[in-house]
Amino acid sequence: MEHMNTADKIKQLAKVYAPEIVQVRRHIHANPELSFEEYNTAAYVKQTLANYGIASETMAETGLVALIKGKNPEKKTIALRADLDALPIVEANEVDYRSKNQGVMHACGHDVHTASLLGAARILQELRDTFEGTIKLVFQPGEEKFPGGASIMIKEGVLQNPAPEGIIGQHVFPLLQAGKVGFKSGMYMASADEIYITVKGKGGHAALPEMNIDPVLISAHLIVALQQIVSRYASPKVPTVLSFGKLEAKGATNVIPNEVKIEGTFRTMNETWRREAHQKIKKLAESLCESMGGSCDIDIKNGYPFLQNDPELTGRTRQAAELYLGEENVVDLDLWMGAEDFAYYSQEVPACFYRLGTRNEARGITSGVHTPTFDIDESALEISIGLMAFVALQELNA
Ligand SMILES: [Zn+2]
Ligand SMILES: [Zn+2]
Repeated sequence: MEHMNTADKIKQLAKVYAPEIVQVRRHIHANPELSFEEYNTAAYVKQTLANYGIASETMAETGLVALIKGKNPEKKTIALRADLDALPIVEANEVDYRSKNQGVMHACGHDVHTASLLGAARILQELRDTFEGTIKLVFQPGEEKFPGGASIMIKEGVLQNPAPEGIIGQHVFPLLQAGKVGFKSGMYMASADEIYITVKGKGGHAALPEMNIDPVLISAHLIVALQQIVSRYASPKVPTVLSFGKLEAKGATNVIPNEVKIEGTFRTMNETWRREAHQKIKKLAESLCESMGGSCDIDIKNGYPFLQNDPELTGRTRQAAELYLGEENVVDLDLWMGAEDFAYYSQEVPACFYRLGTRNEARGITSGVHTPTFDIDESALEISIGLMAFVALQELNA
């Protein structure tokens, strides 16, 4: 062993531990729990860490944090993050490890993230006499549900004592072949806010428009007008999406209703612009409704912020991945307008969120996340546990 370089040493350990981590993943997959209800999952993670000789502490009620201290632990701390929660989906996969909790399913791969971090922890714990610094393991609850477990973990101090100089997370990516990983430096994922508008008019007989204030017509104008926020106010350099997916007017062919409800999502990748855009949306909606004789109530609920991959940390992590997996297995990612609560960490410390390929077309493993048939090619686990351990050690040495 002593003649081997770190990458080869880790690859060897990853190979040894992969079968066990496949079982860990299957156990978590078969026993999914919804956001902020991950009591059994957290207990299982705590026990598994204890089996590896790693003490952990509960945080955010159903989350955990643990430290692996190398030599000279004060030198530097790097955090690695996984999420624990599953989704309210009925699993359609016919596999031994299918969900035993009817109506709840690990359809976003958080079972994979948790098992992978446990595997990486096992490797790092075994190597702790060979590196300097501290690895902070972050197992957070509630990624899928607002306000996001990450925001609670941060409030409870997960980024202090010791404060990590960087945080690294990974997410399964069924668009990418197992064996590969993907990176995107800078802006990566969007903030996502929910918009609720009630357009108020005055209902009545549809044959007597002069007696009514028609909230349906106002809503039609409003939906068109609001796209100006995207086409005229947003900088072309900042991706911005405004979509309305729900429109409810409970009138009839001959009845103008009193009000119309409109619901949508606003997504972007700049926090200043995000706040400005909220104000512009409100102002435009209020003044347009008023100019047409009606009024509106508008409520914009803040979701997760946008996810910024620190260019330096991401550059180094990518290099480490190229070293570990070979350049041909590391790909560039596009922007992704989905949201992810890892973004909260990225607003506080240098962060890197990369994608783990889990696709295997030959075996029919192609379903997207959040679908009842989502699954992974489990060969990705050997890669993910070793890679995560390796990038963490490279970062401690950076
Ligand atoms: Zn998800
Ligand atoms: Zn997810």
